[in-house]
Amino acid sequence: MSRVVAITNQKGGVGKTTTTVNLAASLAATGPRVLLVDIDPQGNATIGSGASKHELETPVGEVLLRRSAARDAVVSAEAGGYDLIGSNETLTAAEVALMQIEGREYRLRQALEPLTQDYDYVLLDCPPTLSTLTVNAMVAADGLIIPIQCEYFALEGLASLLQTVDRIRETANPGLRIEGVLRTMFDPRNNLARDVSEKLSEHFSAELYRTVIPRNVTLAEAPSYGMPVLKYDKRTRGAQAYLMLAGEILGREAENVKI
Ligand code: ATP
Ligand code: MG
Repeated sequence: MSRVVAITNQKGGVGKTTTTVNLAASLAATGPRVLLVDIDPQGNATIGSGASKHELETPVGEVLLRRSAARDAVVSAEAGGYDLIGSNETLTAAEVALMQIEGREYRLRQALEPLTQDYDYVLLDCPPTLSTLTVNAMVAADGLIIPIQCEYFALEGLASLLQTVDRIRETANPGLRIEGVLRTMFDPRNNLARDVSEKLSEHFSAELYRTVIPRNVTLAEAPSYGMPVLKYDKRTRGAQAYLMLAGEILGREAENVKI
C-alpha cells in the first residue's frame, strides 16, 4: 500500500527538509520504494538529495501547471536510494499562475495519482508557509508529519496549522491524518527544550514519535555534499536517529495493519 506523507510546519527552519531527505533515505535503506517531491521553491530538498536545482529538466512547477506528467519529472537521487521530483525558484511563478486556476488545490494530488502505486512512500517537503503549495500537499497526503523544534516559540503557529488541517478535512481531504509529531534539533541539556518536549507529550500523546532527533552537526553538513546523512556518515547520532524514526514509522504501520 502506498502512503503519501507531507512534512509540514509553516514555521521556518524547524527541520522539515532535513527530515524529508533523511527519512526518505532511511526508509529506502530498509526496503520500501520512496519518492520525494520537493514543493518548496527554495529547492533545499532537491540539493540535499544530490540534484542540481538549476539543471532540473522538469521542476515540480511544470507538473503543477500540467506542462509535464509527474512521471517525466522523476529523477533518481542515487545517494539516497530514492526517486525525486525536484524544485527550484521557478515554482514561485508557477504558484502565482496557479492562483488563476480553479481547483488549484487538487493539482498535486491529481498529478501524483498515476504514480503513487509505484512507491510505498511518497514524501512531500513543504515550504514554510500555509500557502497554495502547502494546501496542495495537504490535499494530496494521507498523513502529515509535523517537525517541531523544542524552543520558546515552538508551539506558536501550531494552532493555525491545525486549523488549516481541520479546514482541509472538512472540504477536500476528510481522511487527512496527523501521522506524527517529531521533536527536532533536540538538546537534552537545555531546560527549555525539555519543558517544550513535555508540553508536546501532553498535547499529542499518541501522535508524538518516541524517536527524538538530536542537534547534530553532520545533519547540517550532509546537504552541502548533496547527500543524506546515512550516506555521508551512517555512524553519527543524526543518521541513527533518522533510521530509528523510519523503524518507528514502519512499526506503527505494521500495528495499524494488524488492527
Ligand atoms: P525551511 O522552513 O526554510 O524550509 P526547514 O524547516 O526545512 O526550513 P531545515 O532546512 O531542515 O528546516 O533545517 C534548518 C537548518 O537547521 C538547516 O541549516 C539544517 O541543516 C539545520 N538542521 C536541521 N536539523 C538539524 C539537526 N537535527 N541538527 C543540527 N542542525 C540541523
Ligand atoms: Mg525546508
